[in-house]
Amino acid sequence: EAAARAAAATADTGGPTIFDKIIAKEIPSSIVYEDEKVLAFRDINPQAPVHVLVIPKLRDGLTGLDKAEPRHADILGQLLYAAKVVAEKEGVADGYRVVINNGAEGCQSVYHLHVHVLGGRQMKWPPG
Ligand code: ADP
Repeated sequence: EAAARAAAATADTGGPTIFDKIIAKEIPSSIVYEDEKVLAFRDINPQAPVHVLVIPKLRDGLTGLDKAEPRHADILGQLLYAAKVVAEKEGVADGYRVVINNGAEGCQSVYHLHVHVLGGRQMKWPPG
């Protein structure tokens, strides 16, 4: 399974991603939280009973966390704060995991920065 997920990881082209269509509401998503800067929606392939993705509405070069620059500090904070709000809304505030996969070796497959919020089951460590 780990090998399959690694194989599914792709390269950062900087081109549009599926998340642009989700932001534009051109394809449906199950939105959990939304504000001016941030959108949170359910992952289509959930890895836990609660699995929500939190993304910036404006990618602004943030294909991945590795592209972060000082000007991104505010949105990075807003994403993490929104992850906390999502966890509370989803009723998993007693315990959850927040993950950012970065790059091919980090198993990133969509190159629009996103924060995974996972909960509703016992998490294990180390992750795969
Ligand atoms: P990975 O695919 O290894 O989890 P990422 O960290 O890049 O890599 O996560 C991308 C996530 O986006 C995946 O969990 C995937 O299920 C999710 N995803 C892809 N397309 C959609 C979609 N249309 N709606 C909701 N989630 C999606």
